[in-house]
Amino acid sequence: MTLEDRIAIVTGAASGIGRAIARRYATAGAMVAIADINREAAENTAAELNAAGAAGAIALVMDVTDEASVNDGVAAVMARWGRIDVLVSNAGVQIVNQIENYAFSDWKRMLAIHLDGAFLTTRAVLPHMYAQGSGSVILMGSVHSKEASPLKSAYVTAKHGLLGLARVIAREGAAKGVRANVVCPGFVRTPLVDRQIPEQARELGITEEEVVKRVMLGQTVDGEFTTPEDVAEVALLFAAFPTKALTGQSLVVSHGWYME
Ligand code: NAD
Repeated sequence: MTLEDRIAIVTGAASGIGRAIARRYATAGAMVAIADINREAAENTAAELNAAGAAGAIALVMDVTDEASVNDGVAAVMARWGRIDVLVSNAGVQIVNQIENYAFSDWKRMLAIHLDGAFLTTRAVLPHMYAQGSGSVILMGSVHSKEASPLKSAYVTAKHGLLGLARVIAREGAAKGVRANVVCPGFVRTPLVDRQIPEQARELGITEEEVVKRVMLGQTVDGEFTTPEDVAEVALLFAAFPTKALTGQSLVVSHGWYME
C-alpha cells in the first residue's frame, strides 16, 4: 500500500503509537506533520524520519484541546503543502481511578483530549478534504471502544464515543470522497501503558507482574502485547485503501483480546 505524494497529519506523533504511524506513513511515501503538544519530542521525531529518508516530515506544536492551536496547525500544513489527505487523531492520555474517586477535572481533561481533540482536528481538516474531493480520517480508538475495564470510566466513555463520531464523519463525508474509520488496539507497551502498571497494581492491590499478565494480557490468545508497528499497519490500511468502500468501520488489533 502506498501513500506516495500524500499529506498526513498525525496527532500525538511525538511518542508511542503515533510516532510508529508517522514512521510507517513516511516509509509508504507520505509527507507527515508530527502534531504534538511536546515540541522537543515532535522535533526529534521529525528529524528522525527525515534522517531515515522521509519525503518530508515537520514538527507541528499543537494542543488538540485548543481550538486556535488546532486551526493554526492545520493552516500551517495547508500553507506548506496545500492539501491534507490523511488525519490520524491519535493524541491521548490515561487517568485511572475508581468512579467515586475520579476528579471532575480529570474527567473533563480526558474527554477534552480524546473527544474534543478528535472533533476539533476533524473539523479543521474536513473543508480541505471536501475541496479536494478525497480524504481519510482515522480516529485512535481502543479495545476500550468496545469493552469496559474498571478504573477507566472516562477513557472507556471517550473511546466508545469515537465510534459514533467516525460513523457520522463517514455519513457526512461520503458525498465528498471522505472516509472515516477507527483503529482499536489492545495493550501496547508505550509510556501511556508503562505509567498505568504501578498505578493499577496499587489500585487493585496486586503485583505489577499480575497487572501485566492478568489485567492487560489475560484475555489475549497468546499473552502478547500488541506493538506500535502492528497498529501502524492498520492505520496504513485505512489511510491507503484504494476505494471508498472501507468507511465507518473499526478494526481491533489486540492479539485476540476482543473478538467480534
Ligand atoms: P503516548 O503517551 O506514548 O503518546 C501520546 C502522545 O500524545 C504524546 O506524545 C503526548 O505528548 C501527546 N499528547 C498528549 N496530550 C496532547 C494534546 N493535548 N495535544 C497534542 N498532543 C498531546 O501514548 P500511546 O500509547 O502512543 O497512545 C496514543 C493513542 O493510542 C491514545 O489515543 C491512546 O488512548 C491510544 N491507545 C493506546 C493503547 C496502548 O496500550 N498504549 C491502546 C489502545 C489505544
